[in-house]
Amino acid sequence: CGIFAAISNKPVAKVLVEGLKRLEYRGYDSAGVVTLDDGALRKVCAVGKVEALESICESEPLTGHVGIAHTRWATHGAPSERNSHPHVADGVAVVHNGIVENHSEVRSELQKRGCRFASDTDSEVIPWLISTSVGQGAKPGHAIHALSERLSGSYAIAVLTERDPNTLYAKRSGSPLVAAIGPEGGYLSSDVSALAGFAAEAIVLDDGDQVELRFDSVAVYDRDGQPVTRSVVGVDDAC
Ligand code: GLU
Repeated sequence: CGIFAAISNKPVAKVLVEGLKRLEYRGYDSAGVVTLDDGALRKVCAVGKVEALESICESEPLTGHVGIAHTRWATHGAPSERNSHPHVADGVAVVHNGIVENHSEVRSELQKRGCRFASDTDSEVIPWLISTSVGQGAKPGHAIHALSERLSGSYAIAVLTERDPNTLYAKRSGSPLVAAIGPEGGYLSSDVSALAGFAAEAIVLDDGDQVELRFDSVAVYDRDGQPVTRSVVGVDDAC
């Protein structure tokens, strides 16, 4: 339902929780965060309010300078910790908005190849598809580009990999997503208004676009993998 992600020169957990609070109005049943702490993906999640997630984050602080976060409105799989995003598969963490229509077919194919699913969601096929290709030698960006051939339905995703700790990846097809660079780092959000105070302008992605976001730069590629420049909106104008 809501996506927020950040890459900074400081710990991002507080920023991620703040981003999720601003997305609360969209409705949700659970919330979760993954940051890359000392090279390993670490997840914290809670069923119910973002405040519940926030208090866990305060008692067990996440230290990573890069992370992805999600408020979930369950479509496949009950609202539960097990089904809350981000979903993590072999060093790849993903948050997903939307529905993967062909999830059962993709899941059984991945299970035959030895992938061990940890949730009942349609979304979990996405990190497994990426980690399987990365395991076969693909770069994360290529593995994410290839998702459009495998997935039907609608999605906006943000991806963090242990393999590439200095990059946040994102892609959208049918669900909204924006990217931004501010004084303290780069951001992804499903809604421009959640960026207030973090960045002055946001890049509005077109359908099919993929993003590689670093601390101080953003690159956008169209559905054919060609670099493109997209229009920019003022964050305050959108609030
Ligand atoms: N279909 C996914 C799920 O049920 C994502 C739902 C959402 O957009 O929050 O977990």
